[in-house]
Amino acid sequence: MIKYSLICETGHEFEGWFQNSGAFDVQSANDLVSCPSCGTHHVQKALMAPAVSMRSARPDPIPNRPTPGPATMTHAYVPPSIADIIQKIRAEVEKRSEYVGQKFAEEARRIHYAECPERGIYGEATSDEVAELDAEGIQVFALPVLPEERN
Ligand SMILES: [Zn+2]
Repeated sequence: MIKYSLICETGHEFEGWFQNSGAFDVQSANDLVSCPSCGTHHVQKALMAPAVSMRSARPDPIPNRPTPGPATMTHAYVPPSIADIIQKIRAEVEKRSEYVGQKFAEEARRIHYAECPERGIYGEATSDEVAELDAEGIQVFALPVLPEERN
C-alpha cells in the first residue's frame, strides 16, 4: 500500500491509500477517486516530500544577511591614568618598531611570510587592508590614538 497526499481542483487536501504507484492513476482515470469534502473527481497527487527537498536544495535567493554598516573601530573612554598607560604603550611601540608609513600592509605581509627580517613595524593601513591581513592570518592591531593627538 502507498499513501498519497491528494488535492482536489478546489484545493481540499486529503490522503488516500492505493495498492501501488499505478493504482492512483487507474482509479483517478476511472473517476474512482473523489474528494471527501466536495466530491469532485478532479483529484491529483499533492506535491510531497520530494518537492520539499527540491525547494530546500534550491539556493536561497538572498539570505537575510545584515546590511553591512559603515566600518567601525573599537573606542574607549578612559580616565587620565589609563590614558597615560595607552600613551606609554604607544610610545614603546614607536620606540621599538620601524615606521613604514603607507607600506604597512605590504611590510607586515613580507615579515609574516619571512621575506624580510622579523621586526616590529607600525604605519598606516585602511580597514580593508587590515581585514585582508586578518584573512591571511596576519594579526595586526590598531595603535591607540588619544584624542589630543588628533589635533
Ligand atoms: Zn474538494
